[in-house]
Amino acid sequence: MKVLHGIPAAPGLTIGIAHVIRPAPPVDVTAQRTTDPSIEIARLEGAIGQAIGRMDALRSTASGVTADILEAQREMLDDPELKQGADDLISSGFTAEAAITRVAADYAAQLAELPDQYLAARADDVREAGRRIVAELQGISLEVRLDHSAILVAQDLAPAETVGLDPALLQAVVTETGSATGHLAIVAQGIGIPAVVGVDGALAQIDEGMTLIVDGERGTVTIAPDEVSLTEVETRLAAAQRDKRDLEVYRDRPGMTADGVRIEVFANIGSLVEARKAVEMGAEGVGLFRTELIAAHGLPSEEAQRAIYEEVAAVLQRPLIVRTFDIGGDKPVPGLDIPAEANPFLGWRGIRLSLDRPEEVFLPQIRALLRAAATHDLRIMLPMVTVPQEVEEARTWIDQAIKSLEREGQQVRRVPVGIMVETPAAAVTLDRFKGLIDFASIGTNDLVQYTYAVDRTNTHVRERAKPLGTATLRLVAQICRPGIPVAVCGQLAGDAHAIPLLLGLGVRELSVAPARILAVKRILSSMTLAEMQARAQRALEES
Ligand code: PEP
Ligand code: MG
Repeated sequence: MKVLHGIPAAPGLTIGIAHVIRPAPPVDVTAQRTTDPSIEIARLEGAIGQAIGRMDALRSTASGVTADILEAQREMLDDPELKQGADDLISSGFTAEAAITRVAADYAAQLAELPDQYLAARADDVREAGRRIVAELQGISLEVRLDHSAILVAQDLAPAETVGLDPALLQAVVTETGSATGHLAIVAQGIGIPAVVGVDGALAQIDEGMTLIVDGERGTVTIAPDEVSLTEVETRLAAAQRDKRDLEVYRDRPGMTADGVRIEVFANIGSLVEARKAVEMGAEGVGLFRTELIAAHGLPSEEAQRAIYEEVAAVLQRPLIVRTFDIGGDKPVPGLDIPAEANPFLGWRGIRLSLDRPEEVFLPQIRALLRAAATHDLRIMLPMVTVPQEVEEARTWIDQAIKSLEREGQQVRRVPVGIMVETPAAAVTLDRFKGLIDFASIGTNDLVQYTYAVDRTNTHVRERAKPLGTATLRLVAQICRPGIPVAVCGQLAGDAHAIPLLLGLGVRELSVAPARILAVKRILSSMTLAEMQARAQRALEES
C-alpha cells in the first residue's frame, strides 16, 4: 500500500480500478523528412483537416465553458500562421510532426510572454492544437473512452478529453498537474465525483487495473490499499450511502420549517453542468449564477451569452437569478486590461467595473439577459453594491438596453432587479434601496471579509473572521428590517449552525451548492421558525 498526496479539487470518496492514460511519446523535433516536401505538406494539411473535423464533432456535444474552450482550440487548428510556419520548416527539411511541434511550441512561448492576459492564456490552446495535429499524423486517438467504471489517472486532462466521458462510468479523476480551481476541478465538482490533482509521480506509480482509493476531501490517492484502509473506507462509504438514502425523501419536497413556513432552497451554479446538477438535486431555482465563470477565456459576446443563459434557463424550468459579472478581486478575466491593483478586493470589482465600462462589459450582458428573459423566469442581480446610486445608474443602462431591443423589434419584459448585500455599506443602509430593488441576497463570503477586514484568500488571517460573530448577526438582522425579500447565497447558507440563526433573523431563501440542497432541506424541517427565532435572539444577546 502507498498513499500519494495531491491537491483536493472535488470532494467525495471512492474505491475503484485505475484506468491510466499515458501521454504520447514525445515527438523528435530534429527528425528530417525522407520524402518529397510536397508529400509531407499534404500529410500535414490532411491531419489539420481531420483534427478540425474531430474538434467540430466534439464541440457540437459540449456546452458552456467547455464549448468556449473547444471553440478557441478549433480556431487555433485553423490558424494560417501555424500552417505557414510548419510548411516553411518542412521545406527546409523537417518531417510534418517535427515541423508542427516546433512551430506550435514557439508560437505558444511567444504568446505566453505577452502582457495581455487573454493572449497569454491562448498559449495552452496553441499547444493543444499542435498535440492534436501530431496525433492525427501518427494515427493516435486522443479521445478518452470508458467501457467500465474506473478512476481516470492522467498527466493532465484537456477539456476536449473530458467531453466524451460517460459520467455514469467515471468514478474519480487523478492528475499529475492542475489546480483546485482549474477546468478539471470545475467539471468534477459539476458531475459530483472526487478529484485529486497535482499528484506528483502518479503515472510512475499507478498501473492500469490497480485498486485505488481516492479521497477528494483529504487530497489523497491510496494505491493497493491494505485491509485496514479498505475496511475504514467501506465503513465511511456505507455511512455516506445511508445518509444519501435518508436524504432522498427531500428531493421533491419544497423547503419548509417543521411548522410549515416556506423557505425556498435554491442552488448556486457557474455552468450548464451545475444547472443540470441543481435540477437533479431538487433545487427550487437558482439563487446565484456566477457569470464571471463563463468568462474564463475572456468576455463572451452578447450572442454567446444569450445562448448560455437560455440554455441554462431551459434546463432549469424554474427561477434563475443571474448575477452580472463579478470580475475583479480573486476572479480576474483575461482580455480586459485591468491594471494590477494593490488591494483587488477593494478595487475595480463587480458593479464598479460594469458601470465604468458599460459598452464593453455591462450592456452586452444586460441585452443578453433581457433577450433570454423574454421566454424564461430570469432575474438580474448586481454584485458588490455599496450605495443606491449604483443601482440607479445600472437601472438607467437596463432601461437603455430595453429601449434599444424594442427598437430592434425584439420581445422584452421588465425583469426583477436585486442586489448582493456583501458590503457593510449596503447592509446598514438597505432601507435606502427600497423602491429601487426587488430583492436582496446576502453574500456572506464577502460581507464577512469586509466586516472583519480579513482577506478571504489569506490563510494567515482567515481564521480571524467570525462568520457567526456579533457583527455578522447584527448586520443580517439589520438587512432583514426594511422588509425587502432577503436571501443568503454565501457559504453560510449551507451551514447547519448558521441556518437557524439566519432564518430566525428574517432570511426567507437560501442558495447553496447543488450538493448541499437535500441536507439543507432536512435541516430546515428539523426546527420550527419560533425555535429558530429564539435561537437567533439568544445568539444576538450572548455573542
Ligand atoms: C459571497 O460573497 O458570499 C458570494 C456568494 O459571492 P462570491 O463568493 O462569488 O464572491
Ligand atoms: Mg461575493
